[in-house]
Amino acid sequence: AVKSRMLQAMRKGLSRQTHAQANVRMLPTYICSTPDGTEKGDILVVELCQSHVRTLRVTLLGDGNQSPQPGCWVMGSSWSPPTMPLQLFDFIAQCVRQFLAGISSPQHRLPLGFVFPFSCRQTQLDKVNGTGFSCSDVEGKDVVQLLQSAIKKQELHHVDVVALMNDTVGTMMTCSMRGEPCEVALIVGTGTNSCFMAEAQLVEMAEEISGQMCVNTEWGCFGDDGTLSDILTPYDQHVDQESSNPGEKRFEKLVGSLYLGEIVRHVLTALVAEKVLFTGGSVAILRTKDVLKTQQVLEIIENEEGMAKARRVLEALGLQPSEQDCCRVQQICRVVVSRAAALCAAGLAAILSHMCQSRELERLAVNVGVDGELYWGYTRFGEILQSVTGLLAPECVATLLPSVDGTGQGAAVVTAVALRLAAQCREVDQLLAPLRLSRADLERVQALMRREMELGLGLESHANASVRMLPTYVRGTPDGTERGEFLALDLGGTNFRVLVVRVAQDGIRMASEIYVIPTAVTQGTGEALFNHIMECIMDFQLKQDLMEQVLPLGFTFSFPCQQLGLDKAVLLSWTKGFSASGCVGQDVVQLLREAAQRKQHLGLKVVAVVNDTVGTMMSCGYDDPKCEIGLIVGTGTNACYMEEMRNVGTVEGEQGRMCINMEWGAFGDNGCLDYFFTDFDRLVDEKTINAGKQRWARLISGMYLGEIVRHILLALVEKQLLFRGKPCPKLQTRDIFQTKFLSTIEIDGLALRQVRTILQDLELQASFEDSLLVQKVCQTVSLRAAQLCAAGLAAVVEKMRENRGLAQLAVTVGVDGTLYKMHPRFSQHLQQMLRDLAPNCTVTFLQSEDGSGKGAALVAAVACREAEP
Ligand code: ADP
Ligand code: MG
Repeated sequence: AVKSRMLQAMRKGLSRQTHAQANVRMLPTYICSTPDGTEKGDILVVELCQSHVRTLRVTLLGDGNQSPQPGCWVMGSSWSPPTMPLQLFDFIAQCVRQFLAGISSPQHRLPLGFVFPFSCRQTQLDKVNGTGFSCSDVEGKDVVQLLQSAIKKQELHHVDVVALMNDTVGTMMTCSMRGEPCEVALIVGTGTNSCFMAEAQLVEMAEEISGQMCVNTEWGCFGDDGTLSDILTPYDQHVDQESSNPGEKRFEKLVGSLYLGEIVRHVLTALVAEKVLFTGGSVAILRTKDVLKTQQVLEIIENEEGMAKARRVLEALGLQPSEQDCCRVQQICRVVVSRAAALCAAGLAAILSHMCQSRELERLAVNVGVDGELYWGYTRFGEILQSVTGLLAPECVATLLPSVDGTGQGAAVVTAVALRLAAQCREVDQLLAPLRLSRADLERVQALMRREMELGLGLESHANASVRMLPTYVRGTPDGTERGEFLALDLGGTNFRVLVVRVAQDGIRMASEIYVIPTAVTQGTGEALFNHIMECIMDFQLKQDLMEQVLPLGFTFSFPCQQLGLDKAVLLSWTKGFSASGCVGQDVVQLLREAAQRKQHLGLKVVAVVNDTVGTMMSCGYDDPKCEIGLIVGTGTNACYMEEMRNVGTVEGEQGRMCINMEWGAFGDNGCLDYFFTDFDRLVDEKTINAGKQRWARLISGMYLGEIVRHILLALVEKQLLFRGKPCPKLQTRDIFQTKFLSTIEIDGLALRQVRTILQDLELQASFEDSLLVQKVCQTVSLRAAQLCAAGLAAVVEKMRENRGLAQLAVTVGVDGTLYKMHPRFSQHLQQMLRDLAPNCTVTFLQSEDGSGKGAALVAAVACREAEP
């Protein structure tokens, strides 16, 4: 019951709505990662203790799992708290100055971590408002600011207050220094508290949405709303009533060592009243508050010396204990301390179960740093804590790690982690900087694309342009009046398909069949290949009962072709594993017609050959007449648009428009984009079979984005910024990092552990920090791709607007391609950047469905429509 109530209280503390009323306040600490052992350097730590200020210099060696080497000096140990808060911070600053003078510290910058063991509401790692502190003027003020100014007044200009934390967090951090990360800490001393690494998105009081954050539970106040009233004994009620803060810190009063002696005293008093104890002699002393010290309780419960200790303690109080009295007192002490351990275990079990659930794990193994006099003072305490936790949270395995000087070293570690992260962040940003394009960069790309487009269209300049601007002989987009029944072929996509498309008043209906082309056929003779295609068509016509009709046929042929007419396309080269002989240099429509003749099939009327970009534009054009651009962002990337005939130098005629297949994947192959290529792009390019080709596609399309990311990750590993600099042999494998991973990794709100799972599948052991970094890399690469694509499109839409002499152009882009469709951000970034780069164009995006099937039929339909008088 205590565990589930604690869980409930924790949830209340985490939620933004209920946080204000929560007893277990679950304060965000802004500490988002545990040390990885590479932290190094000199750190100054100032710890504000109950009655003194402790100052230490800790030297971290950055040698992994070694303990830090603390050079530890304690200052100001006889300090008594000044009443004015400013005096307090001035005093601390004086301690720091004396300390630094004493150790003749060098004048280089010295980061300082400040341990402030009071409940604070933090807004950043170094921003905090003190609350509940006895110097009331501190409440609501930024403690870090107060300390930093006090330090300035002491002319210690080289000391920077980098981090502030409470003691529980320090314990967790210290334990993390040795081997495995420690993600939970427990303090059972005078008071009790705990902290753990929570999923940041659950910590609603903090703005972080990804990664983890250490939450300081402040669980001492658990039960202040009465949740624990049914387990409180009369002794607990007495202790509470006699305390300085009745009704508050109910959990702490059951667990903290400050109260254990008092609980025991009240039990003894009750037993005396029932005449079960100390039957001889005066017992008045037991009415005095605090006569039994926790230290004594802990001595009494010891196994060997315990009985003797009990006698000594009781006699010192003026009691005359019998042997049995001593024995009973020892039992009582044990019960009280054991209860504290068990309650602590219930709390710990709640934390563990919460972690296990929120990480969506079936089992959780975690290290728990423990500190505090109860834990150290009684060996059974740890045992009870361990076994009860195991019973209450059977799905979790907690390994208890005793913390040695948790606070001091831990503070140094937190400070060092903050410094390391800041330094890493700078280095990562430096490495990624060349991939971040400014607006000016993108405008330059847009202008370059525009220039290449003009070159590609010009009869003389055409040969030297990297963007080939191929005429498609498609002269119009659908206007909705197309009617009829058409056949379509789709060759060169994932499958070979034959379709029948019925275009009617009430829309388009399609039926299709997928046919397998055996590898032997794709790599055999052209004759055999086209024979096979004809057989498939005939089979389809038979099945669809179309043998008697002569239907116009549109052919989506997704291989590079030089088009000489709408129905005349010369194959330039095979790709995608096709190598049928006798086809390159031939008109593929002619090859198909010849096969029809061989098969004595007279009902074949090939009207048009198109590529998939044109098909995409046409199929979207049927739904939206403004669709005059086609865009593909899949394995590769390409675009087409309706250009004025007068601008197309490579085709006779001035009237009307023609769709131009830009073949823009090759943009930059003439070196015009060299300025924008990063080292990573050059590596990706060099490793491909056709280096120097398709440079634009290599910045944008699905086949390459994963590779770019992989090369960046390799560079990060080399710079020791990722995977702790451990070599990752698997990451050396080409194409191991697929572009679809970018989509998964960049999904909003995706818990980082899922990112970690993807990386683990690649045998990459990623910490949460690593996962965050990988996510950042993916975002950078896909953002650049989307923005470049926008710059290219901006050149297209602006040219169309100018062509038509419009102040404002409204146009629709038909889009296809898995990267565009599946990536969570690509389309958004593309559209946003395009609005920015081409403010005079209103561009709508329409995703195409089956562009290559439907599109080919529509090209045929439009051609037939235009052929009619
Ligand atoms: P094609 O361009 O060959 O017609 P697609 O449009 O389906 O084929 O694109 C396939 C490419 O899309 C793959 O090569 C891959 O790089 C990429 N891809 C596949 N799945 C995803 C995804 N979930 N997110 C982003 N890209 C993907
Ligand atoms: Mg495709």
